[in-house]
Formats: sequence, C-alpha cells, structure tokens
Amino acid sequence: MGMGLHTKLDTFPGIGPARARALGKLGLYTVEDLLSYFPRNYEDRSLRPDILSAGEDELVCFRALVTEGFRTSRIRQGMELTRGKVADDTAQVIITFFNQPYMAGQLRYGEEYIFCGRLQGQGPRRQLTNPYVEPLGAGRLAGGIIPVYPLTAGVSQTLLGGLIRRALPGAEEIPEVLPPEILGRYQLAQAEFSYRNIHFPESWEALALARHRLIFEELLCLSLGLALLRSRRSRGKAPAFHALDLTTFSKGLPFQLTGAQSRAVEELAGDLARGEPMNRLLQGDVGSGKTVVAAAGAYLAFQNGFQSALMAPTELLARQHLITMEGLLASNGLRVDLLVGSMTVVEKRRVRERLAAGEIDLLVGTHALVSQGVEFSRLGLVITDEQHRFGVRQRAALSAKGGEMGTPHVLVMSATPIPRTLALMIYGELDLSVLDELPPGRTPVATYIMGEDKRQRLYRFIRKQAQAGRQTYIVCPTVEEGDLLELKAAEEYGRDLQENVFPDLQTAVLHGRMKGREKEAVMAAFLRGEIAVLVSTTVIEVGVDVPNATLMVIENAERFGLSQLHQLRGRVGRGSEASYCILVTESKGETARERLRALAATNDGFLIAEEDLRLRGPGDFFGSRQHGLPQLQIASLAGDMRVLSQAQEAAKVLLEEDPILEAPRHSPLRDKVWHLFEESRDSFS
Ligand code: ADP
Ligand code: MG
Repeated sequence: MGMGLHTKLDTFPGIGPARARALGKLGLYTVEDLLSYFPRNYEDRSLRPDILSAGEDELVCFRALVTEGFRTSRIRQGMELTRGKVADDTAQVIITFFNQPYMAGQLRYGEEYIFCGRLQGQGPRRQLTNPYVEPLGAGRLAGGIIPVYPLTAGVSQTLLGGLIRRALPGAEEIPEVLPPEILGRYQLAQAEFSYRNIHFPESWEALALARHRLIFEELLCLSLGLALLRSRRSRGKAPAFHALDLTTFSKGLPFQLTGAQSRAVEELAGDLARGEPMNRLLQGDVGSGKTVVAAAGAYLAFQNGFQSALMAPTELLARQHLITMEGLLASNGLRVDLLVGSMTVVEKRRVRERLAAGEIDLLVGTHALVSQGVEFSRLGLVITDEQHRFGVRQRAALSAKGGEMGTPHVLVMSATPIPRTLALMIYGELDLSVLDELPPGRTPVATYIMGEDKRQRLYRFIRKQAQAGRQTYIVCPTVEEGDLLELKAAEEYGRDLQENVFPDLQTAVLHGRMKGREKEAVMAAFLRGEIAVLVSTTVIEVGVDVPNATLMVIENAERFGLSQLHQLRGRVGRGSEASYCILVTESKGETARERLRALAATNDGFLIAEEDLRLRGPGDFFGSRQHGLPQLQIASLAGDMRVLSQAQEAAKVLLEEDPILEAPRHSPLRDKVWHLFEESRDSFS
C-alpha cells in the first residue's frame, strides 16, 4: 500500500465508517494524526525472574505452572467465578476470572503460561484477578514495553496499537522541524527516531530520548507561539469610556468590596478609559467574588451608553448570573435579560428585537449569545465566565458583534488559578487582575477522605445537616459530560438514595441531559431550601451559589482532577456556617491518595493548582486546557520546567535571528507552531 502522512485512515483495510467515526472522536483521520497520537503510558511487560520478586499492586508479568486446575462456579445470577492456582519455585498465586468461564478450558493443569496483572496480597493469599494470559512461546510480549493509548468507545488498545504499527513507516516522511543547531546544542534525538520510539520503544533509554525530544519540540513551539502572539497583539480601536463614577453602584451593593475587588475594579476602569480594546483576565479562586467585578464593568458600560454581554458555559450558570446581575444592577436602571438555547423561539425573538433596539443593557447567556441573528445596537463590553470552557471561535464570534462600534472590551473570568511561576509566561500578553482575598466571614471548608466502610456514618451526617436545616450536594463522577452513562449513574443513585436511605427527606437529581427548564426548576427549588440532598453530576461544578449548602460529598473522588475537586468544594462554604467536603474513595493507589490528601490539606487554590501540575503524569491531556493555553500533548508545564526554560532560551535565540520565522528553512517549524495554536489562536490576540 502506498502510504504517506496524509493517507486517510478509512482507506486502511478493516476500517469501516463506524470505526472511522470512532477514530474521528479522537481527532484521528490520517496517518499523521496517528503518529502524533502519543501513548498516555507504558506497561512493562518484560518478564520478572520469578513471582516472589514481583511487587504487590504493580503491573507485572511472570511465568508459572498451573498447580490446581481451573473450575467455574456460579456465585449468583450473572456472576461466574473461574478459579485455580499457579506457582513457580518461589511462590504460589490464586487466580480468579470473573465471567470468563472459557478460561477453565484454556489453562491446563501441569502446563506453563505467562500471566500479567497486578498481584494482591502476600504469602498463601497472594492473588491475581482477570490477568492477561499467554501460552509460553507465543511471543506476543516480545519487546516488553507496551504503549497504552487514551481511548474512546469503539477504539480498543489492540485496534489503535495495530493501526499505529501499520502507520509507522510514515514516520520517515515526518519533516524535521528543529533546525540542526538546536538539535546539536540541546542534544536532541531526530524526528523519525523519536516518533518510532514514542510508540514502540526499543528500550527504556530510547523511549527517554524520544520523549525528551518531543517534549522539547512542543515546549519550543509553545514558547515561539506565545512570543509571536505577543508581538502581534493588535491595538485596534475600542470605545473609550469617559464616565467612570461607581459611587451609586457601590452604595447599592449588599456588602463592601474587598480590597482585592476594589483593585480589580480600578484596573478595569483604567482599561476602559483608554481607547484601546481591553483584554483582561480576572483570576480568582472559587468564591472570591468575581461576579461583582463583572457587574461593575457592565455598570460602567451602561453609564457610557454601551451594552454588555456576559457569556457563561452552562444554562444553569447563566440563569444564576441573571438573578445575581439583576440584584446588583436593576436598581441602577440597567435592563438585564437572558438568552439561552432552551427558550422558545418566540421568547428568543423578543429578546433579539429588544437587544437590537438598545432596550437591553446587559445580556446574559450561554453560547446562544453568539448565534446568528443576535445583534447588539452598541456592544461595548464582553465578559466571559470560566473562559476555559469556551471554544476560541465562540469568544471571537462574540467580540465580532461589536460591529461599527469597534472592538468591544473583553474581560475574561477564570477560577482556575495558574501557578504564579507560570502566569507571567502564559499571560504575558493579557493583563491580569487577581482576586487573592476571599470576602470576609467565610469559614474554610473542612475536607475529609472517607472509605466505603464509613458509608452509614456519612448518611447519618447528611441527615444531621438536613435536620439543622442545611443542604447537601452529592456529586457522582461522569464518564463524559452529557454522556448517557452519566445520566443513568446519577438517576439510579438518586432513586436509591430517596427510596432506601432518605425516604423522609426531599432529594433531587440534576444532570447534563436534563432540559434547561428542568434544571432551572431543580436549582431554584434547591436555592429556596426545598431540597435537602441534591445528587448531581459535575454540571454544578462552576459558579452555582447556594449559601445554605454546607456539605459536599464527592463519590469516587479519585476520578476527578485536583482543580476540579477544588471547584466542586467551592460550592460549599459560601455562608457563615461550618462547611464540609467529603471525598469518598476506595482507591488504594498511592498517587490518588496523595492527590486527595493534598486537597484536604489546604483551601488555597494556587497551592492546589501547583500540586495538581506536579502530580500530573506525563501526557495528561487535560493539563493545560484549563488555562486557556493550547493543549499540550506530551509536555507538562510543571513537570518539565527545566526543558521549558531551555526551550524558551532556544526560542529567544531563534526569534532574534528571525523575528517572525519567515526564513524558508524555518517554515516547517512555523507551521508546527500555528498548528499547536490553531485552537486557541485568537484567545491570545
Ligand atoms: P466567584 O468568584 O466564585 O464567581 P461569586 O462572585 O459567585 O464568586 O461570589 C461568591 C459569593 O460571595 C456570593 O454569594 C457573593 O454575593 C459573595 N460576595 C462577593 N463579594 C463579597 C464581598 N465583598 N463581601 C461579602 N460577600 C461577597
Ligand atoms: Mg463565578
């Protein structure tokens, strides 16, 4: 088969439309995509010398003899257990398969096999569940280092591994984007070698060299891209706001601004007064009070005869913002309204008409704000909340609605704190306001880690909260937002809780598949205190504000990222009552435990973000998305700090010689930089 980098995967034998679609979900369409799809991890399938030398709880392979034949027994409906014993000269292992009765026929008494899996227990209780088994001499494990790829439904390790193996000859065509002097100075491996060995390493050394080179390349592209964007930052024209009197606004507030809030508002006002588009990031931990800063911005726009738009990532949050903004601004004469997808056609049309006629001063909504036909009469300020949730295209589309008024000012709000060391590098071209102070009267949320054995105690604690008139969130993990499994897990859990645990309490369920109105009704009831226990998926992660909720229970806490857990925890501790966050986990893994302990130890979002970055393993895909940076494939900003500083140094030298990378010899590198920034290109400009 003539195969090049651009060969489409659906021309591969065995790849029909369904598989092609599944691969598409991973962004895999061509040979080049495959080769750039790096393993998430590697498994060491090299054989251990014997069972005794294989550690507990780590993935190991060993050879052993079947010393007690495998038999299947039925435990209960739908559950069959196949069990036997194997041994070598050093130890014996009990092996159990769940619902794989055919294994009894494949493992013969007195014969030797290779077993791979995680050993549990010691001595005569040493055991292995559902191991991978291979007859001696089958040779499939040769090489010993097996890549593990991130997957999606319909794409298995075997399929992906096989496809990549077939695509590997294409690596010869991958252009060497790094100039020879950089390869030399930093002793980096060649492109072809690196792409081969990142997938199917010849040895652990080769893998390390390959990884190092690819990490360097990615961080170099990141550094170059940020530097190029910075130099390109266009200074268009934006309306200059001259009236900047916030006295009335401040007087109408139910509280006094914190020092940090006042500072942020001043910085904002300073930007708005200049005739250039503001481009400011307002960063503050959950609960630090970003909303009122946004309200001050909308007030200033209004005072100068301009409209504002506030875009939130979910309907739930948009509706909550509407209520808050009306509370903060309506008494000052601002007309606040809502535009979200679930409104009726008639409702939407009415809002659009009033907007175009200048009869709405602040329009709050979801991405519906950027849809066709939404026209502002005088848009002067665009605010996006939890910016990392938005695609760049949506943000750009909203800014484009400034029309003949020029570029609107932009305020981006984010609760994801960036470690201070990185902020400067990342947001060098964005102005930054930080709310580093929480409003007064907050009690820090006490956080505990709990195992399944204490579940009854947990239920008693929830009941106690309810009896004291306070409310509880229970968050179940989701497989994927909006996923069918998400809905099922939350609904079943909720039903069980209502029927079997709290028949006397009011419980409710909230998940991503519910209609906007249903969600709104549930949330409104929760806000009114009519629901004692709310079972939810992560749809409540951002922004929801119910001061009377004092307990946050997170099931399978190990499945969440640290920063996400911190966000969830931020839903409680919003009033003056003592608040609790309980992380339920059965995980015995040390890293998982360490992560949760880090969360329990502090309420400081900055520390948590740093810890999150530190603990994150290689190739974490969620690593940088939250910061609005391009998605890094292989490098980790915290873990690869040393390489990062080398890459920055190399970028500087390169740009001194060729400031916009226009030399023909730099064009592959330049392409690579723009490819990395494709997704988030204009969020930086
Ligand atoms: P976030 O930064 O997470 O968006 P919010 O804007 O939702 O935070 O504010 C969290 C809570 O703190 C809200 O209930 C808000 O009314 C309250 N709040 C904000 N600023 C102050 C302040 N200066 N004093 C007292 N309470 C405040
Ligand atoms: Mg908020």
